[in-house]
Amino acid sequence: MSTIFSKIIEGELPCFKVYEDNIVLAFLDINPIHPGHTLVVPKKPFIDGIETDPEILAHIIKIGQKIAIVQKETLKCGGVNFLMSNGAAAGQEVFHTHLHVIPRFEGDGVFNSVEHGKYKDGEAEGLAVTIADALSNN
Ligand code: AMP
Repeated sequence: MSTIFSKIIEGELPCFKVYEDNIVLAFLDINPIHPGHTLVVPKKPFIDGIETDPEILAHIIKIGQKIAIVQKETLKCGGVNFLMSNGAAAGQEVFHTHLHVIPRFEGDGVFNSVEHGKYKDGEAEGLAVTIADALSNN
């Protein structure tokens, strides 16, 4: 499936490139949460992180880490989010794997509206066993 990111990788659409190697291209998000917000995108068009070759996924994170280090130095941000949305239900809009590397500043309020829940009695124990069992079978 061709996406806007495939077109950027093919050079058919412009981007503000910050890094490129044989496996990934990294460029500025066009609608940044903060200036310097960067996307790390594999050149192969995997749909999302769950479908991505694990070695390529590891490389995406490795490059994301390098970018985060440089963001802290150059943008003087206090922290950085690594964010990857996998699937429409998770908020993914472009169906070509990408890691957001988002510079963050103390008290910037980004993601403030996220509400966390609480488990009912016994629920977490049961769920942990269900997931652990499934993992041991994979
Ligand atoms: P997601 O919701 O995780 O799929 O994020 C897609 C991201 O791609 C959004 O943050 C958009 O701002 C960004 N985006 C969409 N089109 C472009 C583009 N042409 N160049 C750079 N970033 C883009």
